[in-house]
Amino acid sequence: MPTTAKKPTVDQVLNCPNLPTLPTVAVQLLELIRDPDVGINDIKKLVESDTGLAGRVLKTVNSSAFGLRQRCNNIQRALGFMGMNSIKSLVLGFSLVDWTKAIDGEGFDIDQYWRRVIYSAAGARVFADKCRACDPDDAFTGALFQDMGILAMLTMIGTPYSEIAGQASEIHDDLPVFERESLGFDHAQAGAALGQKWRLPDSIVQCVKHHHDPTKAQLEHRDLVRMAAISRLCAAALTESDPTRSVNQLSDSVTKWYAINREQVIDMLDRTANEGQELARLFDQNIGSEPDISHLLAEAGEQLLEHQMAVARQVSDLEQEKESLQKSTLTDAMTGAWNRKMFDQMIEEAHQGALKSGAPITVVFMDGDKFKSVNDTYGHLAGDKVIQTLAQRMSATVADEGTVCRYGGEEFAAVIAECDEEKAQQIAESIRAAIANEPFDLSDVDGAPDELPITVSIGVSVRRPKHDNSTTEQIVHEADQAVYASKRDGRNRVTVYKPEIETINPLTADHNAQSKHERPPTAAPDANKSNSTPTPAQTTGSQRSVLVLEDDTLAARLLDAMFRREPNVDVECVTNTSDISSRVAELKNNAQSLPDLVIVDLIFPGISGVDLIKELRSNPELETLPIIVLTASQDAPTIRAARNAGANAVYSKQDVSRHIARWTQDVLALTSRATAA
Ligand code: GH3
Ligand code: MG
Ligand code: MG
Repeated sequence: MPTTAKKPTVDQVLNCPNLPTLPTVAVQLLELIRDPDVGINDIKKLVESDTGLAGRVLKTVNSSAFGLRQRCNNIQRALGFMGMNSIKSLVLGFSLVDWTKAIDGEGFDIDQYWRRVIYSAAGARVFADKCRACDPDDAFTGALFQDMGILAMLTMIGTPYSEIAGQASEIHDDLPVFERESLGFDHAQAGAALGQKWRLPDSIVQCVKHHHDPTKAQLEHRDLVRMAAISRLCAAALTESDPTRSVNQLSDSVTKWYAINREQVIDMLDRTANEGQELARLFDQNIGSEPDISHLLAEAGEQLLEHQMAVARQVSDLEQEKESLQKSTLTDAMTGAWNRKMFDQMIEEAHQGALKSGAPITVVFMDGDKFKSVNDTYGHLAGDKVIQTLAQRMSATVADEGTVCRYGGEEFAAVIAECDEEKAQQIAESIRAAIANEPFDLSDVDGAPDELPITVSIGVSVRRPKHDNSTTEQIVHEADQAVYASKRDGRNRVTVYKPEIETINPLTADHNAQSKHERPPTAAPDANKSNSTPTPAQTTGSQRSVLVLEDDTLAARLLDAMFRREPNVDVECVTNTSDISSRVAELKNNAQSLPDLVIVDLIFPGISGVDLIKELRSNPELETLPIIVLTASQDAPTIRAARNAGANAVYSKQDVSRHIARWTQDVLALTSRATAA
């Protein structure tokens, strides 16, 4: 528009004498809608009063979209099939089509306009239906009317407006920007003003007004306006020659607002393309052939695969991380030997193996003789060097036969599998000799002699758990007693355990022994597998169960994989919406078998996560059940509602996905805290 020309105002657009009036039937319908007492009969009478309209309604109900077996011949039955709301939205739609026909649009691409409006309206219905956030018929009407400001401006301004619109013919989202630059207002403002003049329902006016910027919508109409924006992006995705930007925006918005993943979004876009064709036939508009979105479907499939691969990568990274972490937590920094924790695991593993195979299992304990005097005489550095050399010589001697661990201080222990008494004695003797026969080199330690003779006392226990029912505690106790016997008998020697060497009561009654080598029973990493009765502390370390209520199957799969990587965790994922409802009802009604942790999403088609939490908490027995919300929603009131309903914590999916391994452990820790409480 030339800058010298006088710019029209919104009021002038509304009052332009060329602007056609809304068809009478629409005006009457809008009057009926405003009347709270209006019934289905009033709508029926109105539709029947306009034979052209009645014919189009019947054509619609008989279209393939409804798939009726028998033709429907009257409005009464059509109302039965379609429902009053659908009929209302359809009547408004037909009226808009008629109104548009009366517009004189020189130089304006009206086919393009309709192509967009029809895909918007079809998309609004499809997405509203899937997202369950608002009435699909209202969404349909909002989408149909959202761009009517364009036609009003076109009528008032004519060719200069066609030129502005032409600049944005490829990308509709550019249009309001060009309009505001040239005219000072845009089609959303003009359309909303026209909607008010026509006395359209407030919710529809809001759709028109904010369809390019749904963040400005009033809270009460927020979902409907979001649907208008979604429908706008649908139309863009199906009409632009390069739909990438629109598809990304569409997918991001739908995921953010309604936690629906990209694959599902592309699927709905495909449905929209299809239903748009049907709608175009009913509205008698030429929108061209159905857009081919097979490449989008293929891409979505690829992205899904990429996502799955990323999950798999994450899992394997995690495994590696866990392995290296485990290594660092299982080795002794000073000597490089395995540590006490590793000894506990090794003996448990060897014991399990021996229980099955019937083979013997051997524990060799080694303790430095008069070691304290090394420290006292030559200092701690000399003591450290001796401990390191003890580790080297014992490890070199045991070699592949077993695992040498630093049990503590200057005590070392080796677990040797499938080793009978004779061989055990040989190995122990070799260790003793390897240490005693060659003095330790302390030449690099200040204040210590270059060489220092060192000896060790060794105790050996050989058992066949399958035959003698020996427990790990018992084997450790016996090896320890044997060391004690070696010390007693003059040190620098090997003793193989025999009951007669016992200086304290055998393990049977009280094995919280005087001996420094025995493990406290709670340290058993897998005590439930041993023959001893588990202490209460051991039983709390047993299986934990996690229930995941999540309709996004990918998210559910990821959570499942992550929790399963933790020890002693059972996971149950429920992804189907109706199964989720019934599982919650089941928990509420049977508090006897509860999971240790519930993870719930907030938005499901047709049900709200907040309601699920409320339902669970309505049973006082479920008061302490840990419930964690994991949501893509960033909507503060919803999150507050979840907390108020009784969620222990609310986590954002975005944040969690960045630190999922740590998060998994954090929420599992919550189970023990909550159970302990
Ligand atoms: P025994 O023959 O009866 O075993 O006599 P001992 O002197 O070896 O007796 P004891 O086991 O009581 O002494 C072990 C000492 O080892 C006590 C402790 O200060 C020392 N020690 C433990 N860990 C370390 C370490 O990492 N470095 C050094 N330098 N000393 C340690
Ligand atoms: Mg628009
Ligand atoms: Mg010692």
